[in-house]
Amino acid sequence: MGKPTGFLEYEREEAKATSPKERIKNFNEFHEPLSVDKQKCQAARCMDCGVPFCQNGKVIAGMVSGCPLNNLIPEWNDLLYNGNMEQAYNRLHKTNNFPEFTSRVCPALCEKACTCGLNGDAVSVRANEHLIIENAYEKGYAGAKAPHVRTGKKVAVIGSGPSGLAVADQLNKRGHSVTVYERDDRIGGLLMYGIPNMKLEKHIIDRKVNIMKEEGVTFVTNTNVGKDVKAADILKKYDKVVLACGSRHARDINAKGRDAKGIYFAVDFLMSTTKSLLDNGKLVDGTYVSAKDKDVVIIGGGDTGNDCVGTAIRLGAKSVTQLEMMPKPSKERTKSNPWPQWPRTEKTDYGQEEAIAVFGKDPRMYQTTVKEFQKDKNGNVKKAVLVSLEPQKDKKTGRMQMVPVPGSEKVVDANLVLIAAGFTGSQKYVTDAFGVSVDARTNVATKEETYETNVPGVFAAGDVRRGQSLVAWAIQE
Ligand code: FAD
Repeated sequence: MGKPTGFLEYEREEAKATSPKERIKNFNEFHEPLSVDKQKCQAARCMDCGVPFCQNGKVIAGMVSGCPLNNLIPEWNDLLYNGNMEQAYNRLHKTNNFPEFTSRVCPALCEKACTCGLNGDAVSVRANEHLIIENAYEKGYAGAKAPHVRTGKKVAVIGSGPSGLAVADQLNKRGHSVTVYERDDRIGGLLMYGIPNMKLEKHIIDRKVNIMKEEGVTFVTNTNVGKDVKAADILKKYDKVVLACGSRHARDINAKGRDAKGIYFAVDFLMSTTKSLLDNGKLVDGTYVSAKDKDVVIIGGGDTGNDCVGTAIRLGAKSVTQLEMMPKPSKERTKSNPWPQWPRTEKTDYGQEEAIAVFGKDPRMYQTTVKEFQKDKNGNVKKAVLVSLEPQKDKKTGRMQMVPVPGSEKVVDANLVLIAAGFTGSQKYVTDAFGVSVDARTNVATKEETYETNVPGVFAAGDVRRGQSLVAWAIQE
């Protein structure tokens, strides 16, 4: 414990965010980190509790609380406070292959379980992690370290999201020769083509991928395994195969008029913007889905929906509405949701903050969904018929479900509709190609401990096995 009285002496202080009206002028990250000295004081707030819930990713009351990677948080908070930066990096890197990603995009399950948060503000674990990893790059601790000996064993990893990258990193370090196959033109999975630049600038991914290349990992892009390359050829060529293909089967919405033009899945919309920015250095007409001067309706109140709000505003949307089926959560924890459970509270994320600044109101409409899309004469979506929902117990199962309220229909303008309703599992062409079994949710079924599928030598990890989740879980898997 760096400073026993730290949590009494220092208040939580956070990185300063550029104002919403200023930051929407570009797609850059928008937080200015604290100075090194100030961040060290933040590390001094860690109480090094006897039971560090922060590092103990566990399911409590149906939700995970604490770090899925079991990051040794009190240890590196102490090392950071004492200025032992290289050792802090070594301890951080011991459990987390990619702190440069998690310190930017993780919802910080650790902070929700921090004991300081029981009576006050949690320790700023994510910002401490950010300083440790960025300092490690600056000082050269995070550079390439290729294995001294090769085992002669070959592994193919299918998919280059955080789970595929973590698999590749671990196995390469053990001396196996790893080839990562990716169907997109760039490495990174949803880190690259899902999470927008504002949360994770893409040169951060390239920086790590280049180190992995130097360390000996081979990356093959624009190659769709199961289509461009036969699964049988992969199985013949490699000793082991790991499927890290993500959970990419987007959940659709079943509403009249769904076939109208101008309705996109969130990831396709977000990917088109990121790809255009990366390919051209700026947005070039015709290479992305434009939101300019459009009334944008986003179906889904979660994080992906919020990313769509922030992106649509940067693209010049005329209005943005975000629909959420569930009731508005409370501002504070309720009695039935005590610390250290994951807090089921209202969160106003960066995109929603920006909508409030630009349009003067929160874009979210709770307990609402789309009943119908109306088209113009060219088949383009023009309006959306919304309907309110109310909770009702299902007579057969006894489970609560949201049902439409008769007569609550309301028509809104909608020239661009984005479906951010989540993902439902693996893609059949890949699982069929490898002959692996899937569970009832179409996630790849594996043995509990080894993550091996029913096909000997074929393993699965990340969203393809776990279902739609988080970057920290993808790395952990
Ligand atoms: P993915 O990242 O989906 O990567 C799978 C890769 O496999 C893809 O690149 C795909 O092209 C490739 N692939 C699939 N099949 C094949 C094939 N047959 N051949 C070759 N390549 C193939 N999580 C957070 O923690 N924080 C966030 O802020 C956050 N924001 C998100 C925002 C959005 C818009 C979305 C959609 C998700 C977000 N997530 C976030 C969730 C997180 O991105 C995922 O949980 C994580 O990326 C899953 O990692 P993965 O490696 O399992 O799969």
